Amino acid sequence: MSVNCTILRRLVCHPHLERNAPALGPPRPTKRSRHVSRAPSGFWFWISSCSFISFPLVPVRVSFFHHISPRFRLSPSSMSLSSVYHDYSSFTNGTTFADAYSNFAQLPQLNVLEKIWGAYYYYMGNDVFATGLLFFSVHEFMYFFRCLPWAIIDRIPYFNKYKIQETKLPSNQEQWECLKSVLTSHFLVEAFPCWFFHPVCKKLGISFEVPFPSWTTICFHLAVFFVLEDAWHYWFHRGLHYGVFYKYIHKQHHRYAAPFGLTAEYAHPIEVMLLGFGTVGIPIVWCMLTGSLHLFTVCLWITLRLFQAVDSHSGYEFPWSLHHFLPFWAGADHHDEHHHYFIGSYSSSFRWWDAVLNTEAGPAGKAKREQKMKSRAEMAQKKQI
Ligand SMILES: [Zn+2]
Ligand SMILES: [Zn+2]
Repeated sequence: MSVNCTILRRLVCHPHLERNAPALGPPRPTKRSRHVSRAPSGFWFWISSCSFISFPLVPVRVSFFHHISPRFRLSPSSMSLSSVYHDYSSFTNGTTFADAYSNFAQLPQLNVLEKIWGAYYYYMGNDVFATGLLFFSVHEFMYFFRCLPWAIIDRIPYFNKYKIQETKLPSNQEQWECLKSVLTSHFLVEAFPCWFFHPVCKKLGISFEVPFPSWTTICFHLAVFFVLEDAWHYWFHRGLHYGVFYKYIHKQHHRYAAPFGLTAEYAHPIEVMLLGFGTVGIPIVWCMLTGSLHLFTVCLWITLRLFQAVDSHSGYEFPWSLHHFLPFWAGADHHDEHHHYFIGSYSSSFRWWDAVLNTEAGPAGKAKREQKMKSRAEMAQKKQI
């Protein structure tokens, strides 16, 4: 048990466990660490993976130890109560997620999603951890969950007829290399800000309490974020195609002339941060200006934006693809042409910026530009007559 106690003190930051914790010195160098430091590749990948995986698992370990020994069971007074709900007077004590959910289940004014959301924050008992873990998990799960069908389809010959660049199927080696790079970027660049998101939300007034806003408000916010992110993406992506920006930053994303799902976030860290601001920064700025935003909306927005990014890199064009029903939706064929021709079609979700500014990629875009120039020349000639 004393071993368990030491492990817990090292892992857990609850005040009642930290109080008597011994001071932890720097880890002693070992043969293993000397060996790791010489590793030429994969070093940062494994180090960052281990540290960032272990960090979000801390609450899980705490929960695990609650069950195996009453000594580690947190009493309600020692846990910090979440601010997810304003009145816990009718709640009963419990240590499991089911206990937390049963408390929220008694609140008739909440729907199922709100009950799960409330129970999650109440069970975690640490809002900063809960938001960080939620955001990191949503990002990882939704990204790879959406990539998986495209990776499977790539291995089924029936679907080859729908492949836009049909002769360019990604090899297993290409998919594996891309996966490693994307994971490294997730752990080194994207995971870190997740843990600071809750304090930012608190500061700016992004609510995480239940109940959620109405669905009309949520849909309105999602629509605004799609439009604004598309504009941000168009201009900064176009900027990344100029000279040194392309050479030193954006070239990495264009390694695959025929993209596949996983390549959606295969990019230089500067590009990840710059274009990622359109996804995360725009909701933050929106809340600063309007004072109206809920964390649940941000979760939905990030999920939809990930789906859009992965789908646009899928490399597949189906008769049932969304842009056949919503002509202004960009879709895979729009972004595939960008990768194929290395220029033009810069926007992410919609086609209007490229259409209005004559930057559509490929032969179809070129034909449209020529047609426009011809029409303009004819108009000018008529005016002169
Ligand atoms: Zn590009
Ligand atoms: Zn791309």
